[in-house]
Amino acid sequence: MVTIQLHGTTRQITINAMIDSGATEDFIDKVFCSKYNIRTTQAKTIREVYLADGRPSAMGPITHTAKVPMDIGSHRELAIFQVAKLPNHEVILGIPWLKQHSPRIDWGQGKITFESERCTTWCLKESLTVYAIPEDEAREENLKVEFGVAQSKKDQRVKVKKLDPQAKIPTRGSTQAAGHDLYANASKMILARGQEVVQTGISITPLRGSYSRIAPRSGIAVKHLVAVNAGVIDSDYTGEIKVVHSTWATKTITSKTEIE
Ligand SMILES: [Zn+2]
Repeated sequence: MVTIQLHGTTRQITINAMIDSGATEDFIDKVFCSKYNIRTTQAKTIREVYLADGRPSAMGPITHTAKVPMDIGSHRELAIFQVAKLPNHEVILGIPWLKQHSPRIDWGQGKITFESERCTTWCLKESLTVYAIPEDEAREENLKVEFGVAQSKKDQRVKVKKLDPQAKIPTRGSTQAAGHDLYANASKMILARGQEVVQTGISITPLRGSYSRIAPRSGIAVKHLVAVNAGVIDSDYTGEIKVVHSTWATKTITSKTEIE
C-alpha cells in the first residue's frame, strides 16, 4: 500500500491507499468522505459495480464521485474517485489510475516510480520514486488515523448540566487556565477550623476513561486558609458536584461571597 495525502475542503488527510490492478475503478469510501469533509458530487448516471462472476458488488451502486487533490510523495494530481462502501479500505487506486499514470511498480522492493510522459510533464514536483508499505502495517496506521479522529471529536469535552436553574456554569479564567472555576450555588458558613460541604448545583460527565478533580485555587488557599478535601469525581458519577471545604482559619467564612 502507498501513503497518500488528500486535500479535503477543510483539512489535509494522510492515509494509506491500496493499489489494486484488479479494481475496475478508483474508489474512495463513502463514510471516509463525510468524516473528512471530502466533497462528493452526484454522478450523472447511477452505476452498479459487478464482481468477477457478474453479481452486483456489496460496494453498492455508485451515485457520487469525489474530485480531490491527491499527493503521493512529490506526485500531485487531481484524482477522481467513485464513492463506494469499502469495507476494508479507505482508498483504492485501480485500473483507471494505473492506466492514467502508468507508474513502474517494483512489487518486490515496494517501489513506485512515476516516469511516464504525463507524470514528468504534469504531476511531478521532484523525486520520481515513492516506497510502498506492507499492507498490515498500512491498515494499522489507517485504523489509528480513523480512531484518533473519532476519539477527539466525541470524547474531548466534559459535559455540564445545571441541576438548579440558579447554578452558575464553570468558567475558565483564561485560555491557558489548567481548569475551570467552580461556583458555590448557595451561601454556606464554614466554621473556624471546620469543614463543610458546599453545593455547586451542577453535575458533569467527565471524559471516558478519566476522572475529574476539584483542586483549591491558590488565592483562596493563601487568603482564607481554605483547602479542598476529597475532590476526585469518577467518570460514572452523575450526581451533583459538591466541594468539601475545610479551613484552618480561626474565623468563620462564607462560601458564596468569600471563596466561591
Ligand atoms: Zn502522474
